[in-house]
Amino acid sequence: QAKALGKGRYQLFEPEMYQAVLQRLQLETDLRKALVNQEFSVHYQPIISLNSGIIIGFEALIRWHHPTQGLIPPGLFIPIAEETGLIARIGEWVLRESCHQVSAWKKQRLSDYPLTVSVNLSALQFSQENLIKQIDNILDESQLEPQYLNLEITESAILDHPETASDILKQFKKRRINLSIDDFGTGYSSLSYLHSFPVDTLKIDRSFITPIDDNPNTLGLVPVIISLVQTLGMNVIAEGIETAQQLDQLRKLNCNAGQGYLFSKPVNSQTATHLIQSSPHW
Ligand code: C2E
Ligand code: MG
Ligand code: MG
Ligand code: MG
Repeated sequence: QAKALGKGRYQLFEPEMYQAVLQRLQLETDLRKALVNQEFSVHYQPIISLNSGIIIGFEALIRWHHPTQGLIPPGLFIPIAEETGLIARIGEWVLRESCHQVSAWKKQRLSDYPLTVSVNLSALQFSQENLIKQIDNILDESQLEPQYLNLEITESAILDHPETASDILKQFKKRRINLSIDDFGTGYSSLSYLHSFPVDTLKIDRSFITPIDDNPNTLGLVPVIISLVQTLGMNVIAEGIETAQQLDQLRKLNCNAGQGYLFSKPVNSQTATHLIQSSPHW
């Protein structure tokens, strides 16, 4: 078949592939300059207690404002940052920026309730030798008490290196830093195995929440996950709540907390400040 197409058609790289490789290389080059050029910002998405309806914290989500291409989603550049090792410094920046922000909110006494900040840690950061020292320094300089910091990692960060993870999680525990498992349900780990690590909170992945409507048949595994997680003494957060029906169903299941577009999209720090000041109840 290939021969019939002629020698010229039998190429390793199609032009489109070549374009993709070039684009990817360009993005990598740009990413290397992004920190120095101050092209990153942190957006904050409120986390709501489903019981009281108030904001209990924010998830910090990085944004890259590319000088010519506009906003580039983290789903696109975080993998590149991981492959190139740039994630170490980018991750440190996000941690510092968001700890300072939440500390500032606390000092301004914007909220009657203690606010937490949840920061995503990539698996690569997690296995970084100086991670604990880095966190200690940032908490110290931002004067944020460790119990208000919440770190989010995925199941695989633990399961790929269980011994290392166990050591690091002990260090977190000692400092009263909270740990959440992000995107729960998308990996392959068993809850009871995860429970053998000092995990405080499980975040149910959006893919489980999206199908929920008025009909209880659409709940799928969510009721089982919630009751099992709580039986094991952990909290559960539902990700990606977009409708009042989803909120209603999750409330009936006594899900502890939630986040999603129904409450608010991730917003810049200024808008987040206004949001705290208006102290909304859902
Ligand atoms: P994640 O940690 O699971 O964050 C939740 C993602 O879902 C965010 O996307 C958020 O904007 C989005 N989201 C929240 N509520 C809704 C909703 O109701 N509907 C829909 N459709 N989406 C919703 P975002 O900001 O694009 O981030 C994507 C992923 O990139 C994050 O998933 C996280 O894995 C990673 N990421 C973001 N910021 C950082 C960071 O600072 N460090 C690291 N290592 N990873 C980050
Ligand atoms: Mg997260
Ligand atoms: Mg998540
Ligand atoms: Mg997710």
